[in-house]
Amino acid sequence: MARIAIGGFQHETNTFAPTKAEYDAFTRGGGWPALVSGEAMFEAVAGINISVAGFIEGARASGHDLVPTTWAAASPSAEVTDDAFDRISGLIVDGLRAALAAGNLDAVYLCLHGAMVTESHEDGEGELLRRVRAVVGPDLPVVASLDLHGNITRACFDAATAMVAYKTYPHIDMADTGRRTAAILDKILVEGVPFKAFRQLEFLIPLSWQCTMAEPSGPIYDRMAALETGGVWTASYLPGFPAADIADCGPTILAYGTTQADADRAADAVATDVTGHEAAFAGKIYDPDEAVAEARRLAAGASKPVVIADTQDNPGAGGNSDTTGMLRALVSSGVDRAAIGLIIDPEAAKAAHAAGVGATITVALGGHSGIPGDSPFKGSFVVEAIHDGNTTGTGPFYKNARMALGPSAALRIGGVRIAVASRKVQMADQALYRFVGIEPTEQAILVNKSSVHFRADFTPIAHAILVAAAPGPMIADPAQLPWSRLRPGVRLSPNGPVWKGRAGAL
Ligand SMILES: [Zn+2]
Repeated sequence: MARIAIGGFQHETNTFAPTKAEYDAFTRGGGWPALVSGEAMFEAVAGINISVAGFIEGARASGHDLVPTTWAAASPSAEVTDDAFDRISGLIVDGLRAALAAGNLDAVYLCLHGAMVTESHEDGEGELLRRVRAVVGPDLPVVASLDLHGNITRACFDAATAMVAYKTYPHIDMADTGRRTAAILDKILVEGVPFKAFRQLEFLIPLSWQCTMAEPSGPIYDRMAALETGGVWTASYLPGFPAADIADCGPTILAYGTTQADADRAADAVATDVTGHEAAFAGKIYDPDEAVAEARRLAAGASKPVVIADTQDNPGAGGNSDTTGMLRALVSSGVDRAAIGLIIDPEAAKAAHAAGVGATITVALGGHSGIPGDSPFKGSFVVEAIHDGNTTGTGPFYKNARMALGPSAALRIGGVRIAVASRKVQMADQALYRFVGIEPTEQAILVNKSSVHFRADFTPIAHAILVAAAPGPMIADPAQLPWSRLRPGVRLSPNGPVWKGRAGAL
């Protein structure tokens, strides 16, 4: 039996997004449990599809004694403020100090993302691990679970004894990744520290083509899993989060083994596999009107909805979930039985609550993020439902996640229904339509503010899925982003242009 301190700090940072993550964003959680410290962590995360929950299950099954520090997460956005980073890192580090003062510590587990950028640190996780190491020393086993979208730096990789990333996008294996991390820690506690290998690839991969429910990513993960045998303890391939303007943005491979040769063999095999499929990370992206027209064509005679991903306003990638380009395209097409969600607009939700169900309100809905090419949608809407916003996920991605979305409503204009809430969460769960009375399976067209995660819960009810790019903060093609700090030599998209560095910076 070992005594293991546990904690977590998750943020996926889109440095091109409109709003930073302040401390308050972590106290709310944005669809995930709110910031929690000490023993309360066990109840707050139990049964939820997040890594810390799986780690706790796995470590308890091995009979270990767990010492909870602090766990916190917020919706993706622009940089984590220095205030938030220092306070939450401080809670974790103080928890480790207290755990050490109370007795011998055998290991540390951290539930991390891997793509956190703060106002002062390009590598948020690397800085957190540096602070953790300063307290626990260089030799204590420190293991971490990671999101598949981590942009992992060499310093971050070096600071952790072992790191294990999700293997699915949509991330239906978050809790399972925690269990796998617990199993690797058990192996470390028995056999000692593994040898490890790190590889960084030189091209960015758009989110839409990272989906593991499709080629080429799905089979790449299958082949990687087949390598995890014998001397290869665990291997992770992270396609990365291609909207973080930092030197080390991009895909990485992490491998751990009994010998250096084992780790290198696994890392090289995965790297060769991914780079060999560079051209296959591609697909069709529609403009808004074209997407609605194609969806209407496909929906004619279909018994299930056609789902359109409003990928450039994905709050799971830092959007505010309030752009109106797709809403405009739906309304102007005259479509019947369409729904879009979530549009985050506290003022519109407040107006709907004040007017009541059945009333008509005239508001400027959404479009408040100042995105070029986007603006509020001014119109008159029938209030079809109002709700306090406290709801629970039911699909494989957000299963059992308790959400506090604030005042919410279903608004209707013509044949288009809009699920409106006050706080953002990614439309990755059918429950996020149903809580305001919109039945997703009865719609001809659904427009989801999500890039890929929605596929886990919506593929089973979808006749077809299209990807659309309305003006938004999560530019689908990373080659179109205004890079500045990215390391020179990286191809900005698969087989795309080579980033030569900011003018004058070379
Ligand atoms: Zn992710």
